[in-house]
Amino acid sequence: MTTTDAVVIGSGPNGLVAANLLADAGWSVIVLEEQDRPGGAVWSDDSVAPGHVHDTFSSFYPLAAASPTIRGLRLEEHGLAWAHAPSVLGHSFGDGRWGVLHRDRAATASALDDDAPGDGDAWLALCDTWDRVGDDVLRGLLSPFPPVRGGAGLARQMLRSGGLELLREMAMPARSLTERLFRGEAARMLVAGNAGHADIGLESPGSAAMGLLLALLGQTVGFPVPRGGAGRLSTAMVRRLETRGGELSLGERAEGVRVERGRAVAVRTAGREIRVRRAVLADVSAPALYGGLVPWADLPSRLRHRMERFEWDPSTVKVDWALGGPVPWEGAPAAAPGTVHVADSMDEMTLAGAQVAAGLVPDRPFLLVGQMGAADATRVPAGGEALWAYTHVPQRVRGDAAAGRPGIREVRGMWDESDLDAMAERIEARLESRAPGFRDRITARRVLGPHELEALDGNLVGGAINGGTAGLHQQLVFRPVAGSGRAETPVKGLFLASASAHPGGGVHGACGANAARAALFHHTIQLPWRRT
Ligand SMILES: Cc1cc2nc3c(=O)[nH]c(=O)nc-3n(C[C@H](O)[C@H](O)[C@H](O)COP(=O)(O)OP(=O)(O)OC[C@H]3O[C@@H](n4cnc5c(N)ncnc54)[C@H](O)[C@@H]3O)c2cc1C
Repeated sequence: MTTTDAVVIGSGPNGLVAANLLADAGWSVIVLEEQDRPGGAVWSDDSVAPGHVHDTFSSFYPLAAASPTIRGLRLEEHGLAWAHAPSVLGHSFGDGRWGVLHRDRAATASALDDDAPGDGDAWLALCDTWDRVGDDVLRGLLSPFPPVRGGAGLARQMLRSGGLELLREMAMPARSLTERLFRGEAARMLVAGNAGHADIGLESPGSAAMGLLLALLGQTVGFPVPRGGAGRLSTAMVRRLETRGGELSLGERAEGVRVERGRAVAVRTAGREIRVRRAVLADVSAPALYGGLVPWADLPSRLRHRMERFEWDPSTVKVDWALGGPVPWEGAPAAAPGTVHVADSMDEMTLAGAQVAAGLVPDRPFLLVGQMGAADATRVPAGGEALWAYTHVPQRVRGDAAAGRPGIREVRGMWDESDLDAMAERIEARLESRAPGFRDRITARRVLGPHELEALDGNLVGGAINGGTAGLHQQLVFRPVAGSGRAETPVKGLFLASASAHPGGGVHGACGANAARAALFHHTIQLPWRRT
């Protein structure tokens, strides 16, 4: 029988961060990963076309670049190098206009002023506030909730530096905030488009949080990508772990957690049982842990009732293309953006979001697009492009908002080959309308729908990318269910380390770090009589 201090189930970014922190503390750690490669939704591959490296899932890592925990791992010493596109982000309007987030804030402000005089100053004022309080806001957002240690000090500091007003703005609906701050559509859509990375409606409280956070991080740390592909971020974390004695076991799925007298004591896989001296950290979704890896018999009944109300975020369809040349955007910004958001207007984004909420496949989907060759030339043959676009669709499809429209193929929501083709055509038509000639540049295509995404990473249930809705009712002390918000679970020595835990989706490693620190803390306070 194998025995170790800790088992980490799942090698997504949260699992790998957790394993690294435990190994740093001198614990022996085994990471179990059911796939035959590490990294969860942080991976890249070249299966779309030879010489083109596509990020299989996530691509841009402002949250990782800003995360004190990931920065502290010093992954650059383990092979990670960051690359940046000439500009951070472009918002493409339907009429050939663009809003652009440049790497230099003065350039962003000047372009926003051209769109609507005054918006440049409003943008610079926002950046000034972030300079003063951004680090504290980030620390607050990424720490366990409610903050116990250091929480009061942080709050005092925020009050002094004007951070409270920024927090209030983050709690606002993205529409009201951007309409109050800015006069022009370019500035408004830079924030609203970023809000579209979470699944909170633009008119709902809290949607401004992701919009402001990503826009301001974009302006300060940029939207960096790992040189050579997203997988390089994961392999750097694995390398670091292994230099500290940690072990990664690929192709080994955790089947269950053994609980004895209320404490997690072992993890079962198909071929062995691994006894743990100290802790089990689960980088799996909350529904996969509670009532899955840990049977309900070992959990309090109130948790079962609360988990019945757990809500997934919407599903996703992602298309990857290999292109023979860059996307021929109309009115393309001189400095090519790595990330492009595609929506005619805020109203159109609102409608697409409402359609998803109502169970309809959007007729004019909001697109998040990545131009990976522009961001990192090492990923493509000279002159080529590795492009992706994804959009959200309902978890349970009740219809297609485009049904009956001439020339548009209906999506039925089975997400079989026919549905995926129809959805990819809809996305391509949107891009073609903004970049005439785009289709002619396609040399290869891959479509990943809800089934494919979940098969490649079991945490992406039904194509959900954020471990559960980011809605306020499932955040902070309500994540993943009311009364949580910290990594501890009702089982001693078992910690939830995935994006289903506070603070949720995104590659910041905070869920893993919070779980590792909780494991270390609980072990320490049991000393000295339980030292092994
Ligand atoms: C298409 C897409 C685009 C995204 N874009 C971005 C982006 O650009 N920037 C960003 O910051 N975030 C992005 N995200 C979100 C981000 O990737 C996730 O929030 C993040 O990966 C969550 O990390 P995690 O460690 O919690 O889980 P995951 O990354 O999902 O990893 C979980 C791991 O656990 C493994 N596992 C599950 N069950 C078991 C088991 N029983 N036994 C063993 N192993 C198991 C899985 O195989 C997987 O490897 C995107 C996500 C997707 C899907």
